[in-house]
Amino acid sequence: MSEKRLPLGHGELLELAGQLPTPFYLYDEAAIVDNARAFKRLFSWAPGFTNYFAVKACPNPTIVKLLGEEGFVSVFAVVDSATGKVLAGPQILARGFAEDDNAPPADEFRAAYEMGAIINLDDITHIDALEEAIGTFPKTICFRYNPGPDRTGNAIIGNPVEAKYGVTSDQIVDCYKIAKAKGVERFGLHTMVASNELDGSYIVETARMLFNLAVRIKEEAGVRIDFIDMGGGIGIPYKPGDKPMDLSQVSAGMERLYSTIIKANGLDPLEIYFECGRVITGPYGYLVSRVLHVTSKYKEYVGLDASMANLMRPALYGSYHHITVLGKEREKADHMYDVTGSLCENNDKFAIDRMLPKIEKGDVVVIHDSGAHGHAMGFNYNAKLRSSEYLLRRDGSVDMIRRAQTYDDYVATLRFEGAPVVV
Ligand SMILES: *Cc1c(COP(=O)(O)O)cnc(C)c1O
Repeated sequence: MSEKRLPLGHGELLELAGQLPTPFYLYDEAAIVDNARAFKRLFSWAPGFTNYFAVKACPNPTIVKLLGEEGFVSVFAVVDSATGKVLAGPQILARGFAEDDNAPPADEFRAAYEMGAIINLDDITHIDALEEAIGTFPKTICFRYNPGPDRTGNAIIGNPVEAKYGVTSDQIVDCYKIAKAKGVERFGLHTMVASNELDGSYIVETARMLFNLAVRIKEEAGVRIDFIDMGGGIGIPYKPGDKPMDLSQVSAGMERLYSTIIKANGLDPLEIYFECGRVITGPYGYLVSRVLHVTSKYKEYVGLDASMANLMRPALYGSYHHITVLGKEREKADHMYDVTGSLCENNDKFAIDRMLPKIEKGDVVVIHDSGAHGHAMGFNYNAKLRSSEYLLRRDGSVDMIRRAQTYDDYVATLRFEGAPVVV
């Protein structure tokens, strides 16, 4: 089995786990930044190329700022609950996409408009809802397309007909006609029909679909699309044997289609955006946890101080996350374990029937590929507290970029009169 990469040597990581309270997340600055640069370089042929980092994948302002310095744009809305004011830095808020959603509240429309974000509408009825919420109509608008049964391509992830997102094939042209009549000057087209996809041809087929749709919109609505937002959904190789998506092949395929569809129909220049989260930070975040118990029942169990409240993907989706036992890299993986957390949920398992070296109480494990949709999906069920996050800097120093939750944080939102309840 090929080894998964670690951000530090095993010894150094063990030392760090001895100094910091576990569990904690560790992100690798150099790897994130180098990866972002490589991603951008691959698409240098594309006019105005950028990745609008999907903040929900890793909503930590230090990470978002790092990506911002690489030219990635994001929406990072930190709203002050007392005043309703948006607190995040203006350079981050400058030009991001507001998350499209099936049911956006009016105050989110207003906040997105005020911060100058590109608003990406998910539904034809949202045209009026947006105008009502902000009292005018923005000069730039984007629509999310749902191809329904018209989806071309190969491996279909989920059936677009069943998806709650997006404007249908019958509605999409009308959306642009209406927006044009409302004075919109800059038009975008978006879709997102894949998640954690490793087959690059799927992304190329999505580009083909959107490029052709841009031509149809020009012909039928007289609207010239200024940018295409390819969404996120590029997968990462969670399993050691998985092949990463061949992004240079994706880029080359898209460039060919850009020429044969966009240029050939007089739509050049048309800007190309992505909204990737997972492929940007996913492989470069690690959940570090300590073994509290090793026990034998009908199966062999390894109990960690982390739980699904820290990393929900295995329990929620049955996802594979590779596990390294620090300091045992030379030992044979000849023991089969269920690696569990401490939540009273039977699916609170990081791994089921996983072959690992013999594990002892006190061992430190690293759960790989946790840098996207990891800490972000954490929760507080059963008074589980969310962990800290650290950033490994290029110079080897380690900065805390989020402290761990405390019990006071957990109870801070409760409103209760009188003495504590003892029953
Ligand atoms: C979640 C999401 C993304 C990011 O998805 P990744 O799988 O992290 O790349 C991008 N766009 C939209 C609309 C999303 O909901």
